[in-house]
Amino acid sequence: MGFFSWKFIGVLLSSLTLYSFSSLPSIASSSLAAWIIRSDGVLQFRTSHDAKLKSFFKRGDDLIGDRIWIDFQGELTRPRALPGNGPIREIRLGKPKRGITRLVIEFDHSVSLDPYKLKIKGLASDKWQLDFVGLPVETLKSIGEGDVNKSISKRLHSDSSSATNKFFISLNVNNLPNVKRGKYLVIIDPGHGGPDPGAIGINGLRESEIVLDVSKQVKAYLSQKGVSTRLTRAIEKDLDLPPRVVLANKLKANAFVSIHANASRGYRKDINGLETYYFSKYGGGLTLAKDIHNEILKASPESPDRGVRKGSFFVIRRTNMPAALVEIGFVTGLNDSRDLSRANHRKRLAFAISNGILKYLKKLD
Ligand SMILES: [Zn+2]
Repeated sequence: MGFFSWKFIGVLLSSLTLYSFSSLPSIASSSLAAWIIRSDGVLQFRTSHDAKLKSFFKRGDDLIGDRIWIDFQGELTRPRALPGNGPIREIRLGKPKRGITRLVIEFDHSVSLDPYKLKIKGLASDKWQLDFVGLPVETLKSIGEGDVNKSISKRLHSDSSSATNKFFISLNVNNLPNVKRGKYLVIIDPGHGGPDPGAIGINGLRESEIVLDVSKQVKAYLSQKGVSTRLTRAIEKDLDLPPRVVLANKLKANAFVSIHANASRGYRKDINGLETYYFSKYGGGLTLAKDIHNEILKASPESPDRGVRKGSFFVIRRTNMPAALVEIGFVTGLNDSRDLSRANHRKRLAFAISNGILKYLKKLD
């Protein structure tokens, strides 16, 4: 519980560049040039001038501690992980997708950071600072790579407020959009069930159980918003596809959302990501799919965006109302399966799906 996602997009704008450097990095190389976590719990890093950053916070759980990560433009040549010390467990520099460098700082389990107190300040057009407020630093020794002070611009940035926290996700129902109460009926369809477990992933992770848990939580969120919600199945039971469609069509639902988890051919652990399907561009299916997909991307920022796609799955093809089918991650993927096995991540997905559905319904208000 108490999960917050923290993210901001900070763009430093300097009117003049006083110094020019002959060795400016090419576009393809990482804009992260050096970093240090000082023994007083302050992260500083140097980038190319006016780099664009995105930063994230993810609350830990019983398996992994709190993490923050910052994405930079450009790629590293050598992804790597460095052991931390004291309250910091590990620092990872990775390439989550083409053209992006990601700096991840994973904290020890004992650490609980307040994401509202995390702010990246621009010290200069190429130098940044993040103070881990409240981090116990008694046992922290400084860790870093490169020289953060090298080639620092003399021009101090006048407005560090350009780096501000853009948004938080709080899983409170009050933060979901309001729609007219009592006006809408939504069918939530947890995929598979009972003897049909759907995809089976890493550590025996079962699609049917994960999607049932998420679906029930979506129902709870929507119900609290005054949206009538029916599940096609509320228990682990076998249910063919036609009755799911018959129910939705008979009740003349305003929207139908089928929730699934994915599996890759050959059970490839490196394939992770989010997909949402619609069948028809007309009648709202595509809009519904996009509204939900956008929210899921925010709720699961580590998982690659595999896009909103046209698909002819039976349940979205044969329903008479706007319909979407979401794949909330790969049970066969290393990262996704770890996330999907966690209750707080499933709650976050449920919140995101509810958010997308409500955004869609609001357009019909
Ligand atoms: Zn499925």
